Amino acid sequence: MKKSVVPRNKHFTFLVLPDGASPVLRFRVNAYLLVMLPIIIVLLIAIASTLYLLHDRARGQLDQLHSKLTSTNEAYTLQLAKKEGTIKQLQGELAQLAQQAESVEVRVEELNKLESDVKSLVGLPQENDAAKSDDNGVGGEFVEIKEDDIVGLAHNTEMIFNSLGDEITDLKERLSSTREQAQKRLQTLRVTPTYWPTQSQRITSFFGVRMDPFSGEAGVHKGIDIAGHRGDSVFAAADGRVVDTGTMTERGNYVTITHAMGLTTRYFHLSKIIAHTGDRVQQGDVIGEIGSTGRSTGPHLHFEVVKHGVSVDPRPYLKMAIKGSSANVQVEKGQG
Ligand SMILES: [Zn+2]
Repeated sequence: MKKSVVPRNKHFTFLVLPDGASPVLRFRVNAYLLVMLPIIIVLLIAIASTLYLLHDRARGQLDQLHSKLTSTNEAYTLQLAKKEGTIKQLQGELAQLAQQAESVEVRVEELNKLESDVKSLVGLPQENDAAKSDDNGVGGEFVEIKEDDIVGLAHNTEMIFNSLGDEITDLKERLSSTREQAQKRLQTLRVTPTYWPTQSQRITSFFGVRMDPFSGEAGVHKGIDIAGHRGDSVFAAADGRVVDTGTMTERGNYVTITHAMGLTTRYFHLSKIIAHTGDRVQQGDVIGEIGSTGRSTGPHLHFEVVKHGVSVDPRPYLKMAIKGSSANVQVEKGQG
């Protein structure tokens, strides 16, 4: 057994000797306690110092955290303000976009109308076109926008743009096809006797059975008579080739032109023949002048359309003419 430096049962005795007659005070202290006490005190001081230091350090860290938190908070506040600004700006842009979508919609509608106008001009069939409102008025009180409104507006705008995309693709295809149809139609109209052969469009005698102006008996009129002044221009009703010109007792001075699709046009009673047999003429070219030669009661043009050798009413062809290609004028009356 190892023996302790200070035995537990050993004691020290302290004597206090006061002055005078007071009795002597005597303290008996355990030797072990006497040695351990200073050690315990030193230990306590050490623990207290460590705790103080730890506390101090924790405090410093806490301060640091606090200031960090404050600066982070400020940064967040700043970011939030910035984000709010961005959101406001985006809202504004969205509203603008929505307006643009509406204006593009109006433009597309205008293009649809334009297409319809072009079709009507050249006499092409129309597709069903429900007219939309042209109302452009704006106004009303200002109501602050809510999040739901913004989401709704964004959704609506997206839908408009999606449908506009489809509509523009459709329109592009349709316009391309309309252009082709219009070109074909114009080509057809050019080679068909649709052009009024005189500036006047006043018919004085129609195609078919009529009372003959000379004999007073019923007879067949193979063309139409169009009123006019002597010397007025006579135009080729369609592109073609002049196959015959000359003078005959009943026709007077005449011109005959052949066209595509088995069509022929004839122009009688001219005062002057300008085209020559064999000429290639274009629709609207001057081929002669109005007169009253042959079997005629006064200056006028007798105009015939012959299809595969059979005389037909020229009016359905002339009605196909593009609007505004000829003008009406006041003229004298003549038949033949
Ligand atoms: Zn006639």
